[in-house]
Amino acid sequence: MLRSRFGRRLLVIFVGCSLVPALTIGIASYRSVRGQLTDQAEERLATLSQFAGRTIYDRLTLLENRFRTSGATLRGCGPADRPCVDSLDFGVTDLALIGRSPMVALGGRPDEKDFRTMVDRVELGSKETALVVRADRPLALIHRIDDGSDPAYLVGLIDAPFLWSNLDSEALPDPVHLTLWEPHGGDLLGDETDSLVVPTGSSLRSGRSATGTFRWSSDRENYRAAYWTFPTSHRLALPGLRLVLSEAETDVLVPIADFERTFPLMLAVAMLAALAFGISQIRRRVVPLDALHRGTRHLAEQNFDTRVEISSGDEIEELARSFNVMAARVGQHFDALATAADVDRAVLSLVDRDRIAETALGRLPDLVAVDASLLTLLESSDGAAATIWTREGIGPVNRSPETVILSDRELALIRSNAPRLTVSAEDLALLPFATPLIDPGGGSIEIYPLRFGEEVAGVLAVRRPAGGETSRTDPIQIGHLADQVAVALGNARMVEQVRFLAFYDGLTGLPNRILCKERLAQALARAERQKCHVAVCFLDLDQFSGINDSLGHDLGDQLIERVAKRLLATCREADTVARLGFDPAAVEVARLGGDEFTIVLPDLDDPQDAARVARRVLDSFQQPFRLGTHEVFISASIGIAMYPEDGQEIDDLVKNADVAMYHAKEEGRGAYRMFSAAMNAEAVGRMHLEQRLRRAVEAGEFRLVYQPIVDLESGRVTGAEALIRWNHPDRGVLSPADFISLAEESGLIVRLGEWIFRQACLQAKVWHGEGRGPLKLGINVSARQLQDQDFVATVRKTLAETGVDPTALVLELTETVLMRPDGLVADSIRSLAALGLAFSVDDFGTGYSSLSYLKHFPVGSLKIDRAFIRHLPGDPDYAAITTAIVALAKALGLEVVAEGVETEEQARFVLDLGCHRAQGYLFGPPVAPEEFAKFLDAQAQLLLRPSSHPSASEQLPPRSPGTLSLPATGC
Ligand code: C2E
Ligand code: CA
Ligand code: CA
Repeated sequence: MLRSRFGRRLLVIFVGCSLVPALTIGIASYRSVRGQLTDQAEERLATLSQFAGRTIYDRLTLLENRFRTSGATLRGCGPADRPCVDSLDFGVTDLALIGRSPMVALGGRPDEKDFRTMVDRVELGSKETALVVRADRPLALIHRIDDGSDPAYLVGLIDAPFLWSNLDSEALPDPVHLTLWEPHGGDLLGDETDSLVVPTGSSLRSGRSATGTFRWSSDRENYRAAYWTFPTSHRLALPGLRLVLSEAETDVLVPIADFERTFPLMLAVAMLAALAFGISQIRRRVVPLDALHRGTRHLAEQNFDTRVEISSGDEIEELARSFNVMAARVGQHFDALATAADVDRAVLSLVDRDRIAETALGRLPDLVAVDASLLTLLESSDGAAATIWTREGIGPVNRSPETVILSDRELALIRSNAPRLTVSAEDLALLPFATPLIDPGGGSIEIYPLRFGEEVAGVLAVRRPAGGETSRTDPIQIGHLADQVAVALGNARMVEQVRFLAFYDGLTGLPNRILCKERLAQALARAERQKCHVAVCFLDLDQFSGINDSLGHDLGDQLIERVAKRLLATCREADTVARLGFDPAAVEVARLGGDEFTIVLPDLDDPQDAARVARRVLDSFQQPFRLGTHEVFISASIGIAMYPEDGQEIDDLVKNADVAMYHAKEEGRGAYRMFSAAMNAEAVGRMHLEQRLRRAVEAGEFRLVYQPIVDLESGRVTGAEALIRWNHPDRGVLSPADFISLAEESGLIVRLGEWIFRQACLQAKVWHGEGRGPLKLGINVSARQLQDQDFVATVRKTLAETGVDPTALVLELTETVLMRPDGLVADSIRSLAALGLAFSVDDFGTGYSSLSYLKHFPVGSLKIDRAFIRHLPGDPDYAAITTAIVALAKALGLEVVAEGVETEEQARFVLDLGCHRAQGYLFGPPVAPEEFAKFLDAQAQLLLRPSSHPSASEQLPPRSPGTLSLPATGC
């Protein structure tokens, strides 16, 4: 009870309102009764003291009376007069007659001196008597017998037993102590039987009234005392004598002590009884309240089974009943919510349409009472095809074996915006999809659309039991489930999309690199068990970037798409694979990115089968690809790596297939190569070279050499081509053929190209400064450099920094660079032209036959590729081509430079065609700048002596200065 705050409060109220007043009254009564009892005790003491006082007084007056009556007769008595004193022989111990004559002892052994002192002290009239009180001495009575002239005194010492005898035993309670007190002497005299003496310091002395009470203490006890003052008469002088009666307080207050003992006990018992009653009453109120309190707490802790049993017969009992009803209802609702949440979780956790449908229909009866349920899911948001799942009672969930085509009416109903439709059995005839719900018993049918965002994915329909008990919340529950199913379906679709994005290539729909590796891993695991081979074919389109550049990325993408289709078709063609005896569906074609594809051929018994498939694939590229109005021929190169021979791990296999593909390309494109260990060594070599190349740019291991370009007619050096060399610390001087393509592939050419351009500019500046004529310096620029955003800015900056005249430079570009009239490369070229730079088409004749690009770009010259010149003048075909090129260039107003002129025949031939400039070993190999300067100087001398070299002048046209067998100081 005390644990309850309410109980504690009630207790405080009870104590405050009843116990405290009762206790106060009790204490007041106690004090009052105790006071009265004390008063009574004191009164009794006073009465007793009066009684005792009177008795003693009576005895004293009796003695005085005797003294008086005997006194008259005693005058004549002698000491031996026995009869004289007989009447006096009681009450006194020593008795004597004192007069002028010697003392007459009448009894005992009176001390004359003492007696006379006493007589002298008192003054008595005739027949008067006085009591003499002395400390520690018996009381004495002195009576003046008479006769003023010769007074005589009868003096006697009062016998203590006479005075005190029987006083306490007769009427006084035992033990009381009697004491006489004399105010003048302050002496007190206890009765003879008792040595107890009231101390002089007590309040006795101050009491002026004749009677009174007071308290005093001895060293052993506390006493209550009452005094009584003796009356005085003219015959007996009692000097204010008082009788003090003392009684030990313990004896006096016996009734009070009883009271003190019993009253508090009774009070305590009464209070305890009241308290017990109060507490029991409080308990009766608090215990049910506490039970209610505990009940609500349990309810708050979601313990809905809690019930409060109270039979107090009052409002609290009613409250408890209401509480129990409420707890039961909340419990039901909570259970329903928990079930709903559980169903939600079950549905939402799924990403598979079939399982979502099965779970939704399977769990529906947990939420509400349904006789039958049906789920219709549209195959697509805009089509009429749908799949239907049904469930009768608690039977299995059945799925329609194939998709159903819904009628317009059904579609309209499904897409109507109503959150819920209740349909009668007759209307159902118009909705064939809901036929499974028709019930002769006639339960009502409700239809809930599955809406996710703006889209309707289908409907959930249920048949509610006819006349069954339904709850207001049932439609909400079903509607909620429908919503969750819609969300789950939305999720499923999203997951599907994400899966596709993650594992498939968006352009071709083929598996991407990730999925390819996953499937390859499966294939390898299988092959390991079955001890067979797996071929990984790596396919790369040849010169695809050229297509991309010339036709644009859209057509490039289209081409990739077509290629993907063709690859898939060829690889799965029954003719291709069935003969090889493996499952066409098992062949995996994937796109790794760009123009790279892989074909995985699992479960191979004969590794040569892979070569057969590769050949088939390459053959399929014989047919052109039609892209809109274009017809494109493209070839591919394939590299094949075989499990387990060429690698056990996926990455090794893919890498080795790549290496083999690279070799196929190297050896002339449109071919396939099986991987070999030697290839790998080479690939590793390439990798090392690339790493070295990276560092070489920083280490400054490059230098430029210059090859003269001469005017065939005059023999003068009109220009030079800058060519790069790499002073490899281990391998010596490397030619560009060894590393330029690598630098281009790795992107390093951008940095390297910047360096080359700057170096060439500086050299041009030097020559210009030395006054070495107007030399045109050719600088090779790769396509990759022009694709770089910063290239133009770098060129501009270099020109400004070196201060070289841009018109003294010619940038040599290959035909493929010039293929597209728009795009970043074309923009770069135009920007460079705007800076004043000239362009020359390098290796002309090896690339595209179309010359249309020439009109889009500010090209000033063509360099006929060495491949043509080499066959001159013997080969008529090359002679014809060369002739045509020169004629074309002339027609377009372009200058022509013949490259790789090694013989004088060649030089003469091209000159005859009208090609005036040439470059080649015949005139001079590429040399270091100092050599080149020497060469120029030597040439200047030669020019001064025109016919110094008859053989050359014979072979060359007359105007030629005659060319020279230059020291072949290659680099
Ligand atoms: P290219 O632009 O066609 O350069 C001419 C190549 O032909 C040079 O080879 C040169 O040494 C060689 N050559 C010259 N006359 C004759 C001859 O009479 N007979 C024969 N057989 N060859 C001759 P090099 O220096 O090895 O350069 C090869 C290619 O490397 C160049 O072909 C060019 O495409 C590229 N290249 C060279 N230097 C650079 C450069 O600085 N930047 C860029 N991007 N590419 C460069
Ligand atoms: Ca060149
Ligand atoms: Ca060339």
